[in-house]
Amino acid sequence: MILRMTNKLKVAVVFCQVALISSCEPENPAELILFNANVLTVDEQNSTAAAVAIAGGRITAIGSSKLILRHAGRETTKIDLDGKTLIPGIVDAHTHIRGIAGNIGKLNITDATSVVEVLATIKRYADTLPAGAWIETATGWQPTNFTENRVPTRDELDKAAPEHPVFLKKGYQNGVVNSKALELAGITAENAGLNFLRDSGNNLSGEIYGSLDEISAAQPQLGAEQIERSYEAAMQLVNSFGVTSLRDAALAPAQVELLRSLAEANRLTVRINAVGLIYPRTPLQVDKRMWEDVPVSRGDWFTHDTLKIVADGGISDALLRDDYAWTDSGEAGFRGRFVTQMDKIKAVAAWACETDRKLAVHAIGDAMIDRLLDHYEAIRNECNVGQLGWTIEHVALVTSDQVDRIKNLKISVTTQSGLNYSLASAWRKYWGEERMARSIPNRLLIDGGVMPGGGTDANTGPVNTFVAIWSDVTRQTRDGIVGAEQAVTPLESLRMHTIWAAQVLGTHHDVGSIEVGKFADLAVLDRDILSIPFNSIKDTQVVMTIINGDIVFERD
Ligand SMILES: [Zn+2]
Repeated sequence: MILRMTNKLKVAVVFCQVALISSCEPENPAELILFNANVLTVDEQNSTAAAVAIAGGRITAIGSSKLILRHAGRETTKIDLDGKTLIPGIVDAHTHIRGIAGNIGKLNITDATSVVEVLATIKRYADTLPAGAWIETATGWQPTNFTENRVPTRDELDKAAPEHPVFLKKGYQNGVVNSKALELAGITAENAGLNFLRDSGNNLSGEIYGSLDEISAAQPQLGAEQIERSYEAAMQLVNSFGVTSLRDAALAPAQVELLRSLAEANRLTVRINAVGLIYPRTPLQVDKRMWEDVPVSRGDWFTHDTLKIVADGGISDALLRDDYAWTDSGEAGFRGRFVTQMDKIKAVAAWACETDRKLAVHAIGDAMIDRLLDHYEAIRNECNVGQLGWTIEHVALVTSDQVDRIKNLKISVTTQSGLNYSLASAWRKYWGEERMARSIPNRLLIDGGVMPGGGTDANTGPVNTFVAIWSDVTRQTRDGIVGAEQAVTPLESLRMHTIWAAQVLGTHHDVGSIEVGKFADLAVLDRDILSIPFNSIKDTQVVMTIINGDIVFERD
């Protein structure tokens, strides 16, 4: 058992008094006892307790401190939590550990509020690096959060860092680069593909959309061990936010295998459900070849049993029932687009059903959700989509009629309020006020009997689950409060990010609540998120994270 102890928490191994020897050694002593805590079990009755006993990686008893301390033997480690709050470990139903790993060590500009600030940050950073060294940002920043409401230009980046290749990476497929980066990638106005955007003078603007391959290939390549270490750092980062299980919602086969090999080498510090991404434009035969070689497996630490399709777009091109409020192209009557065409979605659904895989479909727009539900209803006699555990990811603009249909199909949904937090200003621009306000309607879902699995969608949303919980409860975003009527209670939000998320992963019999027999996956918080003022939830600090009875994170 890994146990890193500090003096911050009172740790004591208690030895029996000679006089009491007959009564003090219980039959099956606990290995670890956490006592004097505010235990929020998140069980069916939302019971509370004060202490938990753990042995063999599982919870063996829950109750009052006095009662549970009777499970202590000579070797038992006892931790006095001094009134701190103990919750089930966070289960992140939709995140991207790959993206979090990729952002480790990168320049973070997600909190910048203007282009001017971004440029000053880059200039300062460039001054600390040797000429020629790459300056790459972490993903997750949004130009709509800048007062100028645009990305920095290539010229501006050239002025901020003339001697360094600069790569403002925005997502997996888009970003902005300066001249030095274009030069190193061998991209010129003559040979540039359509992914390199142009200004009105037909010069390369530095903005890239569709593929970052040329730029990524020009950067120093990481070795296998460096990549593995970045995943370990990413796991430690999410552990520091109390996460004990996560579902990475979009991986290539090589990344699934990398995570599987880390699991086999006992190098995971979080339980991982690795979802495989189906590529929109590849023929189904190619997808089948790609994924048939990746075995479906379901284990305590590593599971791969789900394929994911990105059905519609996002902020500027999700499939909507009504016209966009704003389009970049100025196209009249624009209502978004399919990223994956419906016939391919149908073919993948048939294959997933045949091979007993779960299917996760990214669907943001109300019109996309309509199309998907139409299909699921059409195939429900041949394919029990509910029993198979299929999900719709994001459901940002789901409507009440759709909530009924989702409930009847018994499929699950995942929501990520962190997307509202990060993207509200962009929703407003492209979707308009009314649709922005009803984006990610957790209240509507829960009242309609569909319990959403909560997630972060890091790094598009913040990696800290407590920001997502705060946003679930307050509907706070970087752009103020949006759609306050869709707020949920702190307890509902806690359930979303623990037991309901575990239901999405299919692991709710083992994790997601503090109950006897479940894995000892736990997080100790510095405050009781159910009773503090809502605005203080975002500042919650995780004091300790325990997985399988082992401490994997402890705050100094
Ligand atoms: Zn995602």
